[in-house]
Amino acid sequence: MSIADNIKSLNNETSNINVALLAVSKTKPVADLQEAYDAGQRLFGENTVQELVEKQEQLPQDIEWHLIGHLQTNKVKYIAPFISMIQSVDSMKLLQEINKHALKNNRVIDCLLQIYIADEETKFGLGFDEAIEFLRSEEYAALKNIRIRGLMGIATNTANEKQIKEEYYELKTFFDGIKTSFFRKDDTFDTLSMGMSADYKLAIEQGSNMVRLGSTIFGGRAKK
Ligand SMILES: *Cc1c(COP(=O)(O)O)cnc(C)c1O
Repeated sequence: MSIADNIKSLNNETSNINVALLAVSKTKPVADLQEAYDAGQRLFGENTVQELVEKQEQLPQDIEWHLIGHLQTNKVKYIAPFISMIQSVDSMKLLQEINKHALKNNRVIDCLLQIYIADEETKFGLGFDEAIEFLRSEEYAALKNIRIRGLMGIATNTANEKQIKEEYYELKTFFDGIKTSFFRKDDTFDTLSMGMSADYKLAIEQGSNMVRLGSTIFGGRAKK
């Protein structure tokens, strides 16, 4: 199937259940993104600042760009003018830097807290307790140019569906608890980004409302 066909069939699968589709276009050429765009796709995700900025310059301006990879504080300035959402916030230092550059650009930047749910030490993210501490802190309360829109999580890369389900179930439960405790009156805390090509159906079953799909849309990537 073509990229356009993949977009259409995924839209059929997700739009009527209010699950947003983020097209993860890392390593793919601009022509592939243009094809997805022409099929109606507007949400795109990249995992490095360099690739994101290069593509953003070449593609239509109404694309909503999401950063989904680890972000170094010294690179925030390159994306602050236009980024729609930073899904990989995993430290206060980073959030403060995002706030600083959002202020400079006279805007509010939407962010997700990345929560560590996988059974893999290589993955980034805040633990459950850390995230709670984070939201309770005075440092967080002082930041006026960022808005926490929800949570993002990456499950363990395993064929064990039961484990993946449990990890997503825990994240959904945590999301609901955080919403009640910290964002009860705040309708903009609304995004639970979980699910990739291998496990997005499980993630949706567990309550995801944003799936991040790369290979399902664009085909496989060469292994690094
Ligand atoms: C690469 C990536 C994805 C998409 O991966 P696929 O398996 O190709 O769907 C989703 N989320 C993050 C954080 C990624 O880095």
